[in-house]
Amino acid sequence: MIVKPRIRGFICTTAHPAGCAANVRAQISSVAPLANGPKKVLVLGASGGYGLASRIVAAFGAGAETLGVSFERAPTPKRTASAGWYNNIAFEQAAAERGVYAKTLDGDAFSDAMKAAVIDEIRESLGQIDLLVYSLASPVRQHPRTGVLHRSAIKPLGETFHVKTLNQDTGEVSEVDLLPATEEETAATVAVMGGEDWEFWIDALRDAGVLAPGFRTLSYTYIGSELTWPIYWQATLGKAKEDLDRAARAINERLSDLTGEARVVVLKAVVTQASSAIPVVPLYFALLFRVMKEAGNHEDCIAHIERLFHTALYGDGPVDSYLDDVARIRMDDWELSAEIQAEVTRRWPIVAGHNVGELADLDGIRGDFLKIFGFGIDGVDYEADVDPTVGRG
Ligand code: NAD
Repeated sequence: MIVKPRIRGFICTTAHPAGCAANVRAQISSVAPLANGPKKVLVLGASGGYGLASRIVAAFGAGAETLGVSFERAPTPKRTASAGWYNNIAFEQAAAERGVYAKTLDGDAFSDAMKAAVIDEIRESLGQIDLLVYSLASPVRQHPRTGVLHRSAIKPLGETFHVKTLNQDTGEVSEVDLLPATEEETAATVAVMGGEDWEFWIDALRDAGVLAPGFRTLSYTYIGSELTWPIYWQATLGKAKEDLDRAARAINERLSDLTGEARVVVLKAVVTQASSAIPVVPLYFALLFRVMKEAGNHEDCIAHIERLFHTALYGDGPVDSYLDDVARIRMDDWELSAEIQAEVTRRWPIVAGHNVGELADLDGIRGDFLKIFGFGIDGVDYEADVDPTVGRG
């Protein structure tokens, strides 16, 4: 079939197998060697965005053996797989070419069954792991103990939030009212994106004896600018992310006998499937990317994770200089620098449909969005007939 992007709101329902593979390979070829990096790594949410970037830096920078978990859709002869499906296969093929172990398990990471399957695989192939990257982003979680299906709600807290927004397709800038969440919606969002599942993973892996001494675990979070706080940091998602700080403290206590360490890592804004689902942020992202590109310090997923691994995590200096007052690792320092934020904040009230192309990086965020699904990648023939049922051979 000839695969074209089919965009429905904030998702694209098609993905290009060759484009996704080329995108993964481009990320792989961009990473630099990393001495003293992780050796045996589990990445939860390994098929896209920050999880995939972490897996690539670990495997192709540090030569780590990686086990990935993701929740992706397999292809049929008439329908393409989801992008992450193709990403996983491309990653595994590239790892096989280098002779580095890489396996991906597809299924629900929130379930006890997936935890058991991962433990079996670690015992069989890796023995113990020294790093777990928790990079899941999901709108729903079926609780493994109660069976309740929790659905997150991306909403403000307390009051209606009246704010500017960007229609990424049309370039139209308009104003919207975002209604506040109920207490139930807030609790459900914490149940999905908070720290409980991270704790469940660590408990299961530790009880199974598959964590190596000195084991480290990271969970990724976002804080962002005051411009987006009413819909992110001070909203339902922020409450969920705040719960990661609680979970990190609890996990650190439980890892003390291994001299292990749990850290929340604050990352910068990047266009991913997960971030595209958050209202209002596309306008902020578009302004931010333009300003950061003008300042020469814009990073995409892979460049940002590369900096994390080469500095705070496995760099020469102590981690302390990267920590904030609640011991989170801050990688969002460039995004939140006074100069960048002052310029984004200056542009925010004046950006409108007629000047969005000059003030904001509309083309950049559109291009990044298409890239997630394997479109707009250099060297890929989008007119060629491709077989969507790419498998693991
Ligand atoms: P993403 O949408 O690119 O990736 C999400 C991953 O989770 C995919 O691999 C997907 O398959 C997997 N997944 C979802 N539900 C699953 C399930 N039930 N079982 C197994 N796997 C499942 O998301 P992302 O933006 O890379 O987000 C990853 C983390 O990074 C999140 O914690 C997010 O808050 C954080 N973060 C993102 C940004 C950003 O701007 N995108 C910024 C800072 C922090």
